[in-house]
Amino acid sequence: MNLPEDLLIQNNVPLCRYSTFQIGGPARYFVQPTNREQLLAILEFQKLEGIPSVIIGRGSNVLFPDEGYPGLVISLQKFESDHVYFDSDGTLKASAGVSLFRLSAICQEKGASGLEFTCHIPGTVGGAVRMNAGFGRPGRPYLEIKDVLEWVTAIGPDQKLHRLTCDNIVFGYRTSNLQDYLILDATFRTKPSESAKVREEVRANFAYRNSVQDLRYPSAGSVFKNPKMASRFSSGQLIEKVGLKGTRIGGAMISEKHGNFFLNVGGAKASDVFALIELAKARVRDQFGIELDPEIKIISPSIQMLEAGVLS
Ligand SMILES: Cc1cc2nc3c(=O)[nH]c(=O)nc-3n(C[C@H](O)[C@H](O)[C@H](O)COP(=O)(O)OP(=O)(O)OC[C@H]3O[C@@H](n4cnc5c(N)ncnc54)[C@H](O)[C@@H]3O)c2cc1C
Repeated sequence: MNLPEDLLIQNNVPLCRYSTFQIGGPARYFVQPTNREQLLAILEFQKLEGIPSVIIGRGSNVLFPDEGYPGLVISLQKFESDHVYFDSDGTLKASAGVSLFRLSAICQEKGASGLEFTCHIPGTVGGAVRMNAGFGRPGRPYLEIKDVLEWVTAIGPDQKLHRLTCDNIVFGYRTSNLQDYLILDATFRTKPSESAKVREEVRANFAYRNSVQDLRYPSAGSVFKNPKMASRFSSGQLIEKVGLKGTRIGGAMISEKHGNFFLNVGGAKASDVFALIELAKARVRDQFGIELDPEIKIISPSIQMLEAGVLS
């Protein structure tokens, strides 16, 4: 089939460039569609050729293996990355590739309130919906994407377009059942406010985030989900209690500031991070009887894909 002339499929692209962890071997094929025509063409091509694929946004919640990925990685971080529209009813529609930083800047300028809790999250709209991204700070309610979402437009496993609302989507803590969907855009509720007030809320969220997260080195944010029901402690607190803060394997280290942040302190390999993950799981299991569950999406190096959203 003929692909659009302006669509470039690259070979052997280092995935460390497309992950905030800065870890990962080469993708056999790599593509960054910028518009729907390109995206639909690449999906058609992938289907015809029978190439396994994985979708990523800004790669801020993924860990790519050292071996790389033997299929096609479709990065959506350039996909309609400036498509943000407000409707007269206050709803805001943003394409999957829009970064949350950009969305926040637009909401501040417009004086639209509701999405301030996502202002510091280094992902895309698509990744945030898929992961049901969330944040809270003391004195403010903990909010997740599901709390502000009206609907998403997505390509389903049947290769058809779907419009899904919160009634059709099952959201959980840092997860959704959209693993077999490719999210194209999302529409959120916002409330009219004043730019200064939205800015102040964003500033306060950044200040709190900076006080708790460890941002000195590349990472993928929190590695494990919080156990919620199983423990009154967060995953970071459990990792601290089993004495693993500051533990280093190869180039990967568990932050001394935040036990759930694993950092690439220099040339870390995915195998270093896996070893730290196994160590933390084993210690917490042994001492607390709690099974830590990774939040980050670990991309399988084999053709049998595991965690990430995959279109087959
Ligand atoms: C320093 C730091 C701080 C963080 N803080 C927070 C925080 O406070 N709260 C929070 O919730 N998270 C946080 N994160 C994690 C991460 O930023 C979020 O999960 C973010 O929403 C992921 O978006 P992404 O575009 O980077 O997705 P990716 O990491 O690229 O992908 C994540 C998953 O979503 C899938 N996906 C991506 N785009 C699409 C799409 N268009 N359609 C279908 N599936 C898709 C991927 O296949 C993968 O399974 C943090 C990360 C870092 C590095």
